[in-house]
Amino acid sequence: MNRREFLKTATTGVVAATVISPWLGGCAPSVTRSQSGRLKLSFQPCDLKLKHPFTVAVNTRTHTPDVQVQLEYDGIIGYGEASMPPYLGENQESVCKFLGSLDLSQFTDPFRMDEILEYVDSVAPNNRAAKASVDLALHDVVGKLLGAPWYKIWGLSPEKTPDTSFTIGIDTPEVVRQKVEETTPYNIIKVKVGVAGDKETIEIIRSMTDKPLCVDANQGWKDKEQALEMIHWLNERNTLFVEQPLPKEMIDETAWLRERSPLPIIADEFLQRLPDIKRAEGVYDGINIKLMKSTGMREAYQMVTLAKALDMKLMIGCMTETSCAVTAAAQLAPLMHWADLDGNLLIEDDPFEGMQIVKGKVTLPDRPGLGVIPIKG
Ligand code: MG
Repeated sequence: MNRREFLKTATTGVVAATVISPWLGGCAPSVTRSQSGRLKLSFQPCDLKLKHPFTVAVNTRTHTPDVQVQLEYDGIIGYGEASMPPYLGENQESVCKFLGSLDLSQFTDPFRMDEILEYVDSVAPNNRAAKASVDLALHDVVGKLLGAPWYKIWGLSPEKTPDTSFTIGIDTPEVVRQKVEETTPYNIIKVKVGVAGDKETIEIIRSMTDKPLCVDANQGWKDKEQALEMIHWLNERNTLFVEQPLPKEMIDETAWLRERSPLPIIADEFLQRLPDIKRAEGVYDGINIKLMKSTGMREAYQMVTLAKALDMKLMIGCMTETSCAVTAAAQLAPLMHWADLDGNLLIEDDPFEGMQIVKGKVTLPDRPGLGVIPIKG
């Protein structure tokens, strides 16, 4: 198949899956061998099965869409992933279309990461998760060529990783109680709020455990005075911070809230990439960095540097995704105040082994690149 035919067939997820080998089933690696000394990208859409159906007001989800990526260079395979929650505007078709439009075979030196990733970013606007999948796979290739994990390449100390939080969603009192039971291995609990029954949820959790809470309102509070009252109430109940309390458009109100809040206010939906940090200064105390928003590890690292210079708090988050993307995010964990890296725990049949949670703490594998190895099916 020539390049034109490949691009044509790679524009839809279903057809792309026939072009690229089904790695997740433990089958043979890529059909097409790379030209020696050139980067060769391949990708495969897949639906990740959730351990528990995920219910929101409008529907119930049993699977989450994902695209697995491989980047080959001289026989070394780098793994990457795009995970795409519906609210970020990407889907398997858009990711496959974007990846199919790339020509990475023009690059012969994977160490020219800046040049390669600037090209990827220039091909089309947005497509952040698609761009992240290439960034992750390239980091994996380069780390493997160097024989070192990325936390080592960045000069970070793996023992400085924070504890990760484990998330309890908005649910019935019975389910909340059951979820609190499941938080036993974790030292920090993240609670989703933003509805009428918020205080009841917190009271249930507090009746069962005094572990520190992170509270994520996901833009659910609409009134700054009520938000401030709620934050004071939470502050008396061992809460570490509040994430995205108000809608992202309510910038003046969030700045007002931040001035008065006894707890740090963290931006999530408000910001995606490096330039967004400028808008967050003075409005939020910190930022939640996610690789699928930042276009990958390279820009995430730059975001850390800028946020540190602005004396902002740092948090690393993830989507519902495999250990591939979660372990990539974990490489940055030693730089973070807080980590919310539980996305891989929500899926069945994780195709990778990578980062582990040991006594509640993010624990990095001592393996080159991202440090993930495929689990043979
Ligand atoms: Mg959030």
